[in-house]
Amino acid sequence: MGYSVAIDGPAGAGKSTIAKQIAKKMNFIYVDTGAMYRAMALFLIRNKVSADEKEKIEEICKEAKITIEYREGEQVVLLDGENVNGLIRTEEVGNMASASSVNGEVRKKLVALQQELAKSAEVIMDGRDIGTCVLPEANVKVYLTADARVRAKRRFDELTAKGEACDIDKIEADIIERDYRDMHREISPLKQAEDAVLVDTSEMNIEEVVDTIMELIRKDREV
Ligand code: C5P
Repeated sequence: MGYSVAIDGPAGAGKSTIAKQIAKKMNFIYVDTGAMYRAMALFLIRNKVSADEKEKIEEICKEAKITIEYREGEQVVLLDGENVNGLIRTEEVGNMASASSVNGEVRKKLVALQQELAKSAEVIMDGRDIGTCVLPEANVKVYLTADARVRAKRRFDELTAKGEACDIDKIEADIIERDYRDMHREISPLKQAEDAVLVDTSEMNIEEVVDTIMELIRKDREV
């Protein structure tokens, strides 16, 4: 195993923004595991499977060919060889990802891929179960969170900046529903690992969060 940093936390806590910046500073590979669950969700949607068809998901997920490549430092998720990065950031795919990620077969397949990526490289990996399940021996573990309203507001600002019309109350309700499902599923629920450091970003800006985590990494590397 190479050096690894695990960042877990609920939707919209800023995990990917923070992890990307740290990856750049430290020359780590950034592994976005949510993107893999999203690619699987897209595969299921394309195959007209609905979120409640447990057995069908179990069967059909085995056929999904999901691979990861790095192009110019960016993670590219390939579904059957097709770059799907531009198709997986929708609410529909996010909700399907959350619903289908409760499935053991889906998780088994994607966790194996994630562990493979961490074998030969120095990584900063974000998700829901990285510190608890994917990389239990990670060198630094962070549980990144923020108030649901703050997370909804950040998402609202992001969408508004892109010119998309949206409703902050609906975004908050979706976030709360997704968190609930992620925290209460049977297999690898979202929770803070015992040895993870809690970072609540409700009243922090990006720079402050990056600095806090960089400090944890520095301290860890000193010893
Ligand atoms: O982080 P992101 O919103 O892209 O993740 C989409 C969904 O994928 C999450 O709501 C969660 O249900 C699932 N996921 C997971 N385990 C991970 C990463 C994501 O179950 N390690």
